[in-house]
Amino acid sequence: MRWKMHASDFKKLSNTELDQTLKQAVRKERQLLSEILLHMVEVDRRKLFLTLAYPNLFDYLTKHIGYSAGSAQRRIDAARLSKEESPKVTHQQNESVRLEVTLTKAQWGKLNQMRELLSSSLPSGSWDEVLEYVSDKVITQKSPKTKITVDAPNNHSNEKDSIQTQHTKETDMRRARKPLVRSVRHQILKRDQCCQYQDQKTGKVCGTKWHLHADHIQPVWAEGSNDAKNLRILCASHNLEIYRSQAGISRRI
Ligand SMILES: [Zn+2]
Repeated sequence: MRWKMHASDFKKLSNTELDQTLKQAVRKERQLLSEILLHMVEVDRRKLFLTLAYPNLFDYLTKHIGYSAGSAQRRIDAARLSKEESPKVTHQQNESVRLEVTLTKAQWGKLNQMRELLSSSLPSGSWDEVLEYVSDKVITQKSPKTKITVDAPNNHSNEKDSIQTQHTKETDMRRARKPLVRSVRHQILKRDQCCQYQDQKTGKVCGTKWHLHADHIQPVWAEGSNDAKNLRILCASHNLEIYRSQAGISRRI
């Protein structure tokens, strides 16, 4: 079979054969890519990466499947899986990240006003530096003393769980909720430091430090307490995934 040919065999092919063999190989490559993309769409629909303790499809494709960052991102783009993502995040080959976000006119006005106010500190006015400057300020002010990277809605003064408000089933579940004391949340963050979701089959722990939430192991609606031993840190994706399973919310087919 042509596919089992060794490198030296190609030297024996006539020009016509070489041309035809390459065309066959490219056709096969396209079919395979199409199959791979269909798999990826289904993995994304099932959120299989969450079950396997990866916080997102990109991490699953790079760390579990073995694609390079660029290959993974190209396939995600090809499968249009990032279409609904806002902002659109593109991981580039040099590990930099390209961010595309749509702003309202008012938001754009505010950003420009902020940049002008920072002009004495950041004369270049480049947006990457402006964002980094503001990020540093927020991190310094908002991070717990443990210096854990956190971007959790739970840190905001309005403590309503952003995940639960997306659904209608849980009115009863929220009824008994008492706000988690900030010091307890910091204690849990210091203890866990990252998402504690574990794939029961492999033992793999998610471990991401992005978008962390404090989660009740025994839910509040099931009389779970706010004690540290009933709390764990989860990323937003795994928090939502566990909430879905507890609430019996199935994924749309
Ligand atoms: Zn996670």
